[in-house]
Amino acid sequence: MSVKISKVEAFPVKYQEPNDSMAWRYLTFVRITASDGTTGWGEAISQFPGSTKGTAAIVEDLADVIIGKDPLQNLGIWRDIRKQTWWYTYRGGLGHFALSAIDIALWDLRGKITGQSLIEMIGKRDSQEVTEIPVLASTHVFNSNLDIEVERHARYVKEGYMGFKIGMGKRGDARIGYELERDVNFVRDLRQAAGPDAWIMMDRGQSLNWTFEDAVRRVSAWEEQGLKWVEEPFEPWEYEQFKRLRNHTKVLIAGSEREWDYRGYTETINSGTLDVIGCDVGRVEGITGALAIIKLVETAGLWFNSHAWSSAINTAASIALSASTPRCLLQELKPDENPMQHELITEPFTHKNGKIAVPSKPGLGVEVIEKVVQKYVF
Ligand SMILES: [Mg+2]
Repeated sequence: MSVKISKVEAFPVKYQEPNDSMAWRYLTFVRITASDGTTGWGEAISQFPGSTKGTAAIVEDLADVIIGKDPLQNLGIWRDIRKQTWWYTYRGGLGHFALSAIDIALWDLRGKITGQSLIEMIGKRDSQEVTEIPVLASTHVFNSNLDIEVERHARYVKEGYMGFKIGMGKRGDARIGYELERDVNFVRDLRQAAGPDAWIMMDRGQSLNWTFEDAVRRVSAWEEQGLKWVEEPFEPWEYEQFKRLRNHTKVLIAGSEREWDYRGYTETINSGTLDVIGCDVGRVEGITGALAIIKLVETAGLWFNSHAWSSAINTAASIALSASTPRCLLQELKPDENPMQHELITEPFTHKNGKIAVPSKPGLGVEVIEKVVQKYVF
């Protein structure tokens, strides 16, 4: 008797993130169970209480579309769900979160049933054995004493990280991104402390509202300090600003992480303004959605960058996606210990000498601890 999908469950969770000044963050987990008892886990980076509860409700609604289906036909199920979620979502919204979590869970389930890892199912970037990817510390700065921040970031580089990407305009008292001279001095100090080879990247963040001149002055000064990339210096749709900035700098310009599906990505890639295309598997209709985006990135000859700033489920999928394309430079990791990475699964992700291993066990290759999920359900 063939195996069928028998249960679909949603778990809205909330947790405090040490990498984000202990802010409350929210995720939607999904567990899909097959008739032989095999389970697959997925995640949506739904971020706020209402969007998380809403995503969970949509997942429960979609159970009817999924239950009874063959778990090996995950691509067909993805299309079935996509048709139905048009009623909740078009080009972005809660339906995309729901589909993301379900799709990741379905790939996990399929791999666990067939004994294949995700990277085996989606294919490696080339015929060489890709077993590890260089890691970058993806941080926020919080401390008003920037010497402490400089010392912390230099420490990550000593630990093996190839460098760091600093989110600006976040919680805490660091206030980077507001005063030009202070921002320029900060990057100068980071360069001195981290050494000449460290990749330094700066990510504006949504709460900062830079003018074109604000961006040009910072990026030009930071470029002299060897800035590797600047991320989202403007809002995602401000293509003209991105285009103008391109004439002023040679640093890589990154963006797009707030897009939702291949239509948004097609638009942003066709704008010809970006070098690095950010993508969160917990938002872009899951692994299946991300694979379509990777194809667009490869066709345009840009770089794919996986935004994995939530749970280890997202990280597991993200690392495999990164290993599936030659157009990927690195894998981002939250450097400080946190519940959704270090408590959630039996063997948390760590890097060795700045490299992270591509998961090789069946499915996503991680074992989720259910009682930890239950502990954070709200
Ligand atoms: Mg970013």
